Amino acid sequence: MKRTSTFSAPDENRYKPFTPKHTGKRQLFQNPYLERLTRTHILVPISVFFIFASFLLYYVAVYKSLSFLLLAGSFVVGMFAFTLIEYLVHRYVFHLFPDTPEKADFQYKFHGVHHEYPKDKDRLAMPPILSALIISLFFGLYYLIMGNLAYGFTAGFAIGYASYLGVHYMVHAFQPPKNFFKILWINHGIHHYKNDDVAFGVSSPLWDWVFGTLPK
Ligand SMILES: [Zn+2]
Ligand SMILES: [Zn+2]
Repeated sequence: MKRTSTFSAPDENRYKPFTPKHTGKRQLFQNPYLERLTRTHILVPISVFFIFASFLLYYVAVYKSLSFLLLAGSFVVGMFAFTLIEYLVHRYVFHLFPDTPEKADFQYKFHGVHHEYPKDKDRLAMPPILSALIISLFFGLYYLIMGNLAYGFTAGFAIGYASYLGVHYMVHAFQPPKNFFKILWINHGIHHYKNDDVAFGVSSPLWDWVFGTLPK
């Protein structure tokens, strides 16, 4: 199948498209500890996000006076906001054009390796330590912006993140279901195997529809 990718593997010429490989894996770091950190069972980050979200919801319910409506509302908005961040990061960060060796290296480690070895199941999520750090920073930022609403918002955001990880794992590990969720399998398959300039949304096609990157 023809590839239009701008990715390049470290040992190939820069910007030379590669073909996705269905077996094998690649070492990303010489240092064994760093290398170990790049591999994670998908249930580790999913559990981390669920525990983090539960803690936030428990804390705000017990120690803060926020109405149920505001808490539930901020949770739903947070989940929805995650789907937009998911789209933007995948499109503009993970698929940034690698016009310098540094960008190519960054892009390969964060995302290109997944495009080259899409079936390497231990590399479907960032290292949990890194994602825990990022979500804590997000919580701090949201707290500065929206005060106590940040508890519900960040909990929703974290559950959105966990759902995305679950969907992405299932799309790569299991056969497509025979219901309307099948569209997620089809779109992500197109992104990986036909055209990585389209279908950046993994957990939903909504933002591809909004920004005009739905596959034809
Ligand atoms: Zn991608
Ligand atoms: Zn994928």
